Amino acid sequence: MSTTGFNSQNGAGGGQAYANGPSQNPVALQQPPGVGYGMTHQAPYNLMQPKAPMPPGPGLYHSGPYQPVPPVSSYQSSPPVSSYQAPPGQPLLTRPPMGGPLPHTPPQSASPSPGPRMPPAQATPPPPAVSSNSYYPNAQQQQPPMAHAWQYGTAPPPMGAPPPMNTPSGGPVANHVNLPASSTAPPQSSTAYSSPPQGPVSHNATQPPGPGMPPTSLHGYTHPGTAPPPMNPMPPHTYQPGRPPYGPPPTGPPPTMKPAPPPTGPPMGSATPPPPKADGTMAGNGPQTPNTYNHVDNKMAGPPQSGPPGRQLGHYPSLPPGYQNTSAPPSSASPMHPPMPTATQPYTQAPQPYQQPSAGPGPAQLSPSLAALSLQSSTPEALRVVNLLQERNLLPPGPIPAPTPCLPQDLQKINCNPEVFRSTLTSIPQTQSLLNKAKLPLGLLLHPFKDLSQLPVVTSSTIVRCRSCRTYINPFVSFLDQRRWKCNLCYRVNDVPEEFMYNPVSRSYGEPHKRPEVQNATIEFIAPSEYMLRPPQPAVYLFVLDVSHNAVETGYLNMVCQSLLDNINALPGDSRTKIGFITFDSTIHFYNLQEGLSQPQMLIVSDIEDIFLPTPDSLLVNLSECKELVQDLLKSLPNLFEKTMETQSALGPALQAAFKLLSPTGGRMSVFQTQLPNLGVGALKSREDPNQRASAKDIQHLSPATDFYKKLALDCSGQQVAVDLFLLSAQYCDLASLGCISRYSAGSVYYYPSYHHAHNPAQVERFQKDLKRYLTRKIGFEAVMRIRCTKGLSIHTFHGNFFVRSTDLLSLPNVNPDAGFAVQMSIEENLLDMQVVSFQAALLYTSSKGERRIRVHTMCLPVVNSLSDIFAGADVQAITGLLASMAVDRSVSASLSDARDAMTNAAIDSLASYRQSVLTIQQPGLLAPACLRLFPLYILALLKQKAFRTGTSTRLDDRVFAMCQLKYQPLAYLMLMIHPALYRVDDLTDEGALNINERTIPQPRVQQLSVEKLSREGAFLMDAGMVIYLWVGRNCNPNFLTQVLGVPNYTAVPQNLYLLPELDTAESQRTRAFIGWLRDQRPFFPTLHVIRDESQLKANFMQNMIEDRTESALSYYEFLLHLQQQISK
Ligand SMILES: [Zn+2]
Repeated sequence: MSTTGFNSQNGAGGGQAYANGPSQNPVALQQPPGVGYGMTHQAPYNLMQPKAPMPPGPGLYHSGPYQPVPPVSSYQSSPPVSSYQAPPGQPLLTRPPMGGPLPHTPPQSASPSPGPRMPPAQATPPPPAVSSNSYYPNAQQQQPPMAHAWQYGTAPPPMGAPPPMNTPSGGPVANHVNLPASSTAPPQSSTAYSSPPQGPVSHNATQPPGPGMPPTSLHGYTHPGTAPPPMNPMPPHTYQPGRPPYGPPPTGPPPTMKPAPPPTGPPMGSATPPPPKADGTMAGNGPQTPNTYNHVDNKMAGPPQSGPPGRQLGHYPSLPPGYQNTSAPPSSASPMHPPMPTATQPYTQAPQPYQQPSAGPGPAQLSPSLAALSLQSSTPEALRVVNLLQERNLLPPGPIPAPTPCLPQDLQKINCNPEVFRSTLTSIPQTQSLLNKAKLPLGLLLHPFKDLSQLPVVTSSTIVRCRSCRTYINPFVSFLDQRRWKCNLCYRVNDVPEEFMYNPVSRSYGEPHKRPEVQNATIEFIAPSEYMLRPPQPAVYLFVLDVSHNAVETGYLNMVCQSLLDNINALPGDSRTKIGFITFDSTIHFYNLQEGLSQPQMLIVSDIEDIFLPTPDSLLVNLSECKELVQDLLKSLPNLFEKTMETQSALGPALQAAFKLLSPTGGRMSVFQTQLPNLGVGALKSREDPNQRASAKDIQHLSPATDFYKKLALDCSGQQVAVDLFLLSAQYCDLASLGCISRYSAGSVYYYPSYHHAHNPAQVERFQKDLKRYLTRKIGFEAVMRIRCTKGLSIHTFHGNFFVRSTDLLSLPNVNPDAGFAVQMSIEENLLDMQVVSFQAALLYTSSKGERRIRVHTMCLPVVNSLSDIFAGADVQAITGLLASMAVDRSVSASLSDARDAMTNAAIDSLASYRQSVLTIQQPGLLAPACLRLFPLYILALLKQKAFRTGTSTRLDDRVFAMCQLKYQPLAYLMLMIHPALYRVDDLTDEGALNINERTIPQPRVQQLSVEKLSREGAFLMDAGMVIYLWVGRNCNPNFLTQVLGVPNYTAVPQNLYLLPELDTAESQRTRAFIGWLRDQRPFFPTLHVIRDESQLKANFMQNMIEDRTESALSYYEFLLHLQQQISK
């Protein structure tokens, strides 16, 4: 039996092995004192400190010349302006050539890097069943997937890994136990960074902010309005007639009561939240129409934003339960779960309607009903025993919905949308030891700023929060009576503020349980001034553009400038929005865009060792006031460097300059880079050995070569600057080093390998579409996110792009709607008396219009005490997503082989546990509960994923980028990366099609990823998330060739076809509608590649045939046999 894997993540102490992942990144803790921000570095991140939201002190954010930069070793504070030597007033169009003619840099090649060598399709049929010892026909070759797995006993100590985030406190901290004291104290001012720790009881009731007291942190602050109990209790007769009265305060178990009848739809939100009303009413929902709110809520079950309804990825309200569509679920196959009356019910409908007793039970009476639920949670379908070696056709025909937590229907109806907030286990184990037994990871996956079609927005002077743990009031609290509510996270009884008694939606009084805050699991508040440390800053956008010869050669600059010109009025912001530009090659060029100039003025700073801002006040300008100058610049910029021969790249100094420019306000820095930076600080050397790309051994250089980018990113984070990196290069750029600039500043990385304006039209199209989305999508500034959970649970490791400010507070200088996050959890205290637990993510940000807003998501899950219930609630996709993030950390902190072993072991351990502890009657075969039947397939897919594969040629930057994506993508897109969807499309019909906006969208069935499923007579579409392949068989149906591709025969299919012709045929319309529909469902633009047998990209297509054997990796069947062998050891 394997001993090492991810199982350790479940343990609080045992989590160390995994907790060492670099995402913990408490870099401050590693730095020598005095290095860091303008203040002592230790202080800001000291866990004992109050959770000071970042903004620097008042002295640091007045706009003006650059403030002294901390003495980070790699750069110095700017020299006095008087030392400025460069000619400041060079006219824009007279830029002197910098440097003489230099060796011509080879232009970017349109041809992709040599793809991994793959055996031809016909050469890799899945092997027939082989005996358990026969799947190592070539021991050397077969080793990679697992041979090490079983030999390494304990994980090698992580090399150079930062300490786990919980190290400072000696282990995961139950945030509700330890944190409120230290973490929720209000930052008193900028000096809070270095002020001594607050006492445990310090702030809550005792420190209302006085006038002039600086605003405070998000979640750490006691809102004065919530504290005093109402002095004038409502007379009982105002209580809503017809509603069951709330019971007396419970004395025993925590309450689980949901007071109000829920609305009939899962709350969702909108990309364009209605404008807030100033009078404490529901914004945009018309206080004059009391029922509007409910109406809106009902509509929330509809499709998000522009996406079509129906088969959305994980769109749970309208999705058919996927698991019921699998082949022949013979309930009788499970001796444990003989057919029950509910056997035909899909799992998602398992909970019986929860009867709200009319007699008015208190929470105490509620308990028996909840207890009864555990009987229902072992629904036959989720736990149906599947012998994976026999049942091959496991994929549901369409996307797999998230499993529905086994909660009373009225609770579940208002529960958070799983697209936003999801747990790997929808039933939470009662104890850590039970969790350890299950060998499944416990964690949350979040997509907190997702574009939502409906989002209730509340403006209220009183944001009601728990006085003890600062939880926002939510649908899962219980009202003891009209005047008191009990927190569902820490169980403190709180008073209902007077203002909360009025319901702006119904315009009625005395119905606190009907307030929108208590009716919606996702809600947004307009934050009052206490939630600000400084006035909300304007939207500030700074573009940092590589203009070296290499960059100009790709032609990307044209695209960026044109896209900005096209979308300049759609940049999120208001009349205060600022914009600026920096270009760089071997020198740094600034652009004076001050109002009144007749044309933009270019200022060149050639002293890159000691970078400073030539005219600090005119480089970031008000967009609306200076729009013409900005447009002039964008029109002339591409021509300006047309003839450049400068090949060097001083990226580091350019980033330093950009940081100085943005420091006073914070904002977004968009960096475009096309080569390895080779000049000044942050210069890098190539570390990739092309001969090692196909190595079956450990992959080197997955961690950064220098800490320059990480340090600078942390400085950026401290000044509310996020850095987005667009990497466009055919050559190795050391993304492992460069990516740190985005990762720790909460930015994103975009990667366009081999971008070339003429040679790579598919890339050009993707870049254009991505830029449009990037420039126009919603953005939040100055953000922090805190995740809270019910007392007893503890969050201990975070995954995504951010800086962990304290144990549960993530610093997000920017937040965008396309970013996902994951966290790991452990169970610190037994949840013995609890029927349910809750999780709350609160994101405080400044909108592009300068409003402070708080978006709050709350999820409620049942607690169970049996292994079978835990397994029944397992969410295989969420588990896979979390494991992928964990494996990325493990690859960097330990080694790739270690990460691969751990993933394999995760499958082995959980299935072994299921076999030993859940199955009462042993049967032969590799057995899995139906809800985990795809687990081995997904693990195998991860092992073959670009990020983790071995033995297949993979460029280092491609691998590192895949790792970035695994940690950053929301789950829905992540799953397509891991396990693409394959469809046959040469015979599309309207049968079962969706009808969206009068378009008919065919719905072909998802096929297994095996060449077995391909047919030379057909055409197959593979949706791999970022890229879509359309493979055309050699003997493809001529009808498809003529009616869809517009070619007479197979040989006429162009080699590099990436656009389908718009033919006026039913076949063409169906195919294009289907592809368009797939694309519409994600925020980025997947490129389409039409490929045939001779295409270079065929290898990429074939590599996604996960179930097949390759030279270096097992087939799915072989993998199953291997798992079985390990389990039965
Ligand atoms: Zn509380």
